[in-house]
Amino acid sequence: MNIEMPTLPYAANALQPVISEQTIGFHYGKHLQNYVNALASLVKGTEYEGKSVEDIVKTAPDGAIFNNAGQILNHVLYFTQFRASVKDNKPSGKIAKAIDEAFGSFDEFKTQFSQTAATLFGSGWAWLSQTPDGKLVITKEANAENPLRRGNNPLLCIDVWEHAYYLDYQNRRADHINDLWQLINWDEISSRMK
Ligand code: MN
Repeated sequence: MNIEMPTLPYAANALQPVISEQTIGFHYGKHLQNYVNALASLVKGTEYEGKSVEDIVKTAPDGAIFNNAGQILNHVLYFTQFRASVKDNKPSGKIAKAIDEAFGSFDEFKTQFSQTAATLFGSGWAWLSQTPDGKLVITKEANAENPLRRGNNPLLCIDVWEHAYYLDYQNRRADHINDLWQLINWDEISSRMK
């Protein structure tokens, strides 16, 4: 992944009403653009210039370069994991099998993941990732953290920074999380598995 804006795989209004066009305008158009601009400027003349976003996330010490790289990686994976709303949206194939093996059922996985995202204190992310031995795990990550930093393969995320949902849901974080499940593009999540 280069230090640049990803292309959205859907129209800016395609995720409404769960994620409004206005939220895409600010969250993708302003917040993510600012992280991209900041990192491009911060790496100039450093050992990180020319490196991929993933390499910077894995190797940069805590600080501004890591924070901006982490937020770019997080948001690229976030914005490219959605598609227009699907009723009774469910995974299939290898991701469905891996979820059943790790959590017992898709419903149990959703409950645990939603609970993790709803109870994260402050700003951060809930992640589903794959450990090096292929097991699926749910983690809470503060601020710009990403499971990749600890050697896991990130698959699916929920952004619980308030900028992700406040325009559409105000303080109702749990409702936002519950509604996001209908937007997940499980084919995309499955394609991220190793
Ligand atoms: Mn965000």
